[in-house]
Amino acid sequence: MSSLSAKYAPSGLAADLADPELLCQAAHVAGQLVASDTGEDIPVTDPATGETIGFIPALAPEQSRAAIDAAQQAFLPWSSLLPQERSAILRRWYDLIMDAREDLARIMVAEQGKPISEARGEIAYAASFVEFFAEEAKRPNIESVTSHLPDAEVEIWREPAGVAALITPWNFPSAMITRKAAAALAAGCTCLVHPSSETPFSATALAILAARAGIPAGAFNVVTGKAATIVEPWTSDTRVRVLSFTGSTEIGKLLYRQSADTVKRLVMELGGHAPFIVFSDADLDQAVEEAIKAKFATSGQDCLGANRFLIDRRIYQAFCDRFVEATAALSIGPGITDPDIGPLMNEKAVAKQVSHVEDAIAKGAKCLIGGKVDGQGPLFFQPTVLADVPANALIMAEETFGPVAALSPFDSEEEAIARANATEYGLIAYLHTMDPRRIYRASRQLQFGMVAVNRTKVTGAPIPFGGFKQSGMGREGARLGMEEFTEVKYVCRDWA
Ligand code: NAP
Repeated sequence: MSSLSAKYAPSGLAADLADPELLCQAAHVAGQLVASDTGEDIPVTDPATGETIGFIPALAPEQSRAAIDAAQQAFLPWSSLLPQERSAILRRWYDLIMDAREDLARIMVAEQGKPISEARGEIAYAASFVEFFAEEAKRPNIESVTSHLPDAEVEIWREPAGVAALITPWNFPSAMITRKAAAALAAGCTCLVHPSSETPFSATALAILAARAGIPAGAFNVVTGKAATIVEPWTSDTRVRVLSFTGSTEIGKLLYRQSADTVKRLVMELGGHAPFIVFSDADLDQAVEEAIKAKFATSGQDCLGANRFLIDRRIYQAFCDRFVEATAALSIGPGITDPDIGPLMNEKAVAKQVSHVEDAIAKGAKCLIGGKVDGQGPLFFQPTVLADVPANALIMAEETFGPVAALSPFDSEEEAIARANATEYGLIAYLHTMDPRRIYRASRQLQFGMVAVNRTKVTGAPIPFGGFKQSGMGREGARLGMEEFTEVKYVCRDWA
């Protein structure tokens, strides 16, 4: 491993931080700050300005394998600690994250672009997983079963699976890491984290805090670089027992295939294409307010983002009018100025908005507001509302992952549910109605891992987050999220 050179020291943005060490331009392997053996770096840019805010080393495949060695060596000592000891260390990590909340939020805004209020919210959300799993680590992991055999004592144990590879996206650069890592560490696993190369500094800051909290060397490694170069050595190595991925369905399928030969346990948190259904008996003011949150939070770059607004025809015009009015009031700007909408992550994201808008209009949709790249810069896209979007428009079939809302009327409950389910995605569905029987019926019939009724914010550490169909497999958060990092062992003892 190359030792850390001066070019990886904190710089630039670090001057604005209360704790400049938190802006760390190095990978973390085996408790060391690590540069690339090849000397190759990846620039990290501020999406609001296009300026380079730092560099992250592109580790070589051998270095990625060395990280597995480190995690494997750390596994026995870490998993042998008393659960109470692991819990205390995780709790310290939680406290340090919360103490550093403002610095971590500033780093996130600089590399990801999201509004500073949202970044502060994400740090608290990220920390909440560490707190939750610090507690969960102490809960019983042995179940006693009423024996089916004479004179036998029967138990089911949950044991840590081993080294876990965690691969995370850029839209929630902190929370997607802690949601996995805190669960894995609480279960007794050690971690290899590959953060998105677009937002690595949130991850390296978490690694600094993890070390300060007492997470031992090798138990939480952050391995930066080109994703395929870093991750292939992990998928092909039998010592990596769990692979937990959050990102696009396309890359999820690739990693699923790559992991087949080593038969890994998989957790996949993939794309969404959420329907937002409003019935005529809904509270319209509330539905519009929640629709704004469901569409425009994280500037639309959210796997939970509402993509398809299906509105009862009897209130369609009223909903369109009020939704456009509320959209017009949204502010756009650099994340640090705390607008409602920040820049998108990259040019690819902007190109997707443009193509979805142009395609929908070509197929007969009307653009009620927005529809263009904003004058603030090449990565700012105006919050956009498209009405009368036909079923064959791209936006009705694909995740837009940006601030474009597609509206369409429906004529019956059956039609609304059938259209909502007519997709291979199944992460979350939003439902607005005041009829309790319809709430029950629709909640049952919607083929989604999560159903949000008359509200948008439903996530949190205690709930099982995850999707049906091609939105993923396994769950994060809740007790289930920790169990994904364990193996079940059945033990039967003669008691005669
Ligand atoms: P992405 O392109 O699939 O990337 C996700 C992660 O995979 C990044 O760390 C990326 O690294 C890595 N990666 C890319 N190519 C890879 C390869 N060939 N082998 C191994 N790893 C590879 O997704 P994204 O654009 O960052 O994130 C947006 C997607 O994530 C959306 O579809 C969204 O719905 C989904 N998402 C889902 C959830 C959920 O909980 N269900 C939450 C958030 C986001 P690099 O960035 O370094 O290339």
